[in-house]
Amino acid sequence: MTKIKPFYDGLVLGGGIAGMQAALDLAGQGFEVLLVEKEPTIGGVMVGLNKVFPTLDCSSCICTPRMAEVAHHDRISVLCYTDLVRARRRNAGFEVILRKKPRYVVEEDCIGCSLCELACPYFAPHEFDQGLGARAAIYIPHGNAIPQVPVLDPDYCMLDGNCARACPKNCIDFAQQAEELSVGVGSIIVATGLRLTPMGAKKQYGGDRHANVMNPLAMERVQSSNGPYGHILRPSDGKIPRSVAYVQCAGSRDQSIGVPYCSRVCCMYALKQAIMIRHQRHDTQVTIYHMDIRAFGKGYEQFYRRAQSEGVRVVKAKVARITEVENGDLSLRVELIDEGGRVADIRHDLVVLSQGTIPGWRPEGALPLEVDDDGFFAIPDIAARPANSTAEGIFVAGVATGPKDIPDSIVEAGAAAMEAAMYLDRVRESAGEMA
Ligand SMILES: Cc1cc2nc3c(=O)[nH]c(=O)nc-3n(C[C@H](O)[C@H](O)[C@H](O)COP(=O)(O)OP(=O)(O)OC[C@H]3O[C@@H](n4cnc5c(N)ncnc54)[C@H](O)[C@@H]3O)c2cc1C
Repeated sequence: MTKIKPFYDGLVLGGGIAGMQAALDLAGQGFEVLLVEKEPTIGGVMVGLNKVFPTLDCSSCICTPRMAEVAHHDRISVLCYTDLVRARRRNAGFEVILRKKPRYVVEEDCIGCSLCELACPYFAPHEFDQGLGARAAIYIPHGNAIPQVPVLDPDYCMLDGNCARACPKNCIDFAQQAEELSVGVGSIIVATGLRLTPMGAKKQYGGDRHANVMNPLAMERVQSSNGPYGHILRPSDGKIPRSVAYVQCAGSRDQSIGVPYCSRVCCMYALKQAIMIRHQRHDTQVTIYHMDIRAFGKGYEQFYRRAQSEGVRVVKAKVARITEVENGDLSLRVELIDEGGRVADIRHDLVVLSQGTIPGWRPEGALPLEVDDDGFFAIPDIAARPANSTAEGIFVAGVATGPKDIPDSIVEAGAAAMEAAMYLDRVRESAGEMA
């Protein structure tokens, strides 16, 4: 049985960098916070990134201390692998119903020894490595996961009890059920982040068909020293790619796929990944095909220039289609804008699609919140109160309100925590006056 308090000052929905920062800032002001994350671990997208632009600092070295701070904070309770069923207004706060999914592991007793994982003979594609590596049917999501508690995937488990026999604490529970939890909260901060547009969104690029057309999160994992390969290889045959292409706006600024807006970070992560490829493989050519490079943040334009000075080719072009040719190589039909629109077929070993950013979660009635036409949470007064949603007492942060980078997500999380604190103080003051 999961134990939580009957009431928290703040519920934070989403344990990515924005949600973690909002929880820390609200708890830092003396409020009790419940952080709810739908995945088995907190950390969001950031914990899976290799480096961050424009500093090229190690991403998990920044993210994991914050994950630990959240987990060990006296005033923050963390509930992972939990969905929000609904939140309804009750007086000035909310009554919240949550559904904790079964891990089939008794969390309170687990010591994170991984012996269950090592004993499991069944394997599935590794979600953390974007399907490139394998993980056991019972697995701790990754080395930096918090909590370090495994989750059993019933789709791959054959129920033969290897894990249960290996567990020194007897905490495998095949009969565990989902739990419904009810809790009162004074305010809510929504930080439900992002997903990428589907790989097959643009049929002409074959992202869902060609093995060597990768998604950018997979490239982050491939570049990571703790990734599936430990260095840059192409997925189909393990060959070292000598020529890599990035196709920009492969899921953004395109009304035909329902993403008319700019996803804001793609130019920067493509430049970052291109630099990292050049650092790891000096003889690999990297070409970024783009409509225009949007380097909007502090130090970003300089980062763009740095990439070019380190040999990254940046070519203004429209990519019409990607075709698989022999040996898994790819041929790109491109219209070269700076060459008067000349059309060329150019071969590359590996292609990364700079996919667009779409909302990580749509509330569909679970929260009394409005979304904009693009699906991100609406902000009625974006110029003056960028963290205030359409509902009193509910605040928003990070990519949940629209595509943005890590620094902006962190700043917005601080603003959401401050707005929530002011709201809670106002509610307490007016309750005091009534008494
Ligand atoms: C390939 C790539 C590379 C990038 N590189 C950089 C970089 O180098 N530098 C930089 O500044 N930015 C970079 N970014 C952008 C960066 O990833 C985002 O700015 C950042 O992750 C936003 O944090 P977030 O907390 O808003 O969202 P997320 O990281 O998406 O976290 C949201 C969390 O909410 C959880 N969640 C979703 N719905 C629910 C729900 N209903 N209930 C509970 N939990 C829920 C999710 O599981 C997730 O853990 C990159 C993005 C991509 C795609």
